[in-house]
Amino acid sequence: MILRLEKHITGSQFSAIQQSLMEIGYKANEVRTQHEHYLIALGKNEFDIRKIGSLPGVADIHQVSDDYQLVSRKWKVNRTMIDLGDGVFVGNGQVAIMAGPCSIENEKQVELTLQHLSDNGVRIMRGGVFKPRSSPYAFRGLGIDGLKMWHQAAKASGIKIISEVMQVSQIAEMHDYVDVFQVGARNTQNFNLLDELGKVDKPVMIKRGISGTIEELLYSAEYVFSAGNEKIILCERGIRTYEKATRNTFDINAIPILKDKSHLPVVADPSHGIGLREFVEPVALAAVIAGADGIIYETHQKPNEAASDGQQTLDFSESARLIKKIRNTFELREGS
Ligand code: PEP
Ligand code: MN
Repeated sequence: MILRLEKHITGSQFSAIQQSLMEIGYKANEVRTQHEHYLIALGKNEFDIRKIGSLPGVADIHQVSDDYQLVSRKWKVNRTMIDLGDGVFVGNGQVAIMAGPCSIENEKQVELTLQHLSDNGVRIMRGGVFKPRSSPYAFRGLGIDGLKMWHQAAKASGIKIISEVMQVSQIAEMHDYVDVFQVGARNTQNFNLLDELGKVDKPVMIKRGISGTIEELLYSAEYVFSAGNEKIILCERGIRTYEKATRNTFDINAIPILKDKSHLPVVADPSHGIGLREFVEPVALAAVIAGADGIIYETHQKPNEAASDGQQTLDFSESARLIKKIRNTFELREGS
């Protein structure tokens, strides 16, 4: 059960609400986010909801039958829209496009990618500076200096940045240079990281875990929300299955299911989802039809020379074609 509290609730009103919840056998968890003050009350006993809902200091009350609460669609009328500033949104009823290399490599690459995105009206660039690599000998990213260089160039182009944060200590150093923190598939259940991302006033995109269920992804989002950050994007990026023909199995089902279960925007990552350049496009378009609020994919001026994930990376002409097709497919979906 979610109680949204009045902005100017007094200390004694708050205590009285807590007391009433205790009396009906409910355990209350206080949550303060950027915008709101909530009590998440968990319990099983039957009670008259009007008795709690009418207490002074309660703005509204919602019974949520899901175990995750704040990220559930069951209590929120409007879907969450993420505002990145300067007219850039995710979840505003349009389809957001986020594109860029797997890894940020050098200034030239950043400049060429920004130019490509600007030419095609894409406002969000992806790229990793802290790279989770299966082998410790593989390229592990340019680190914070690479992010600073990228930020300066992106700012001049009016393009927003999404980049992966791998550990708690990186949050503060990255904070001023990213517009969205990405939590990678290997960190979806790094609960310390999620807790700390709950304390920042910046959007967080959480990728589904490599072998994670849809429910586990929602619980990960609940960590961030309950720690204080409402600005969350969910991302389906494929899961590990017994199938060997593709890098991962992109779970198209996850898109309508996540949109049904949660009010948070849902983005699809076809690059990691299938892992094969020639099939990124059909998977991306299928995800748009399935209801995705955005597509994130990898592109590079010379994919075969990319420092990571070249096999699933589009060149700029393939990327330009995909951008057009994403927009056309979105129009088709919306029936306009
Ligand atoms: C990435 O986006 O480059 C990445 C490492 O993704 P994932 O965490 O989904 O594997
Ligand atoms: Mn990658």
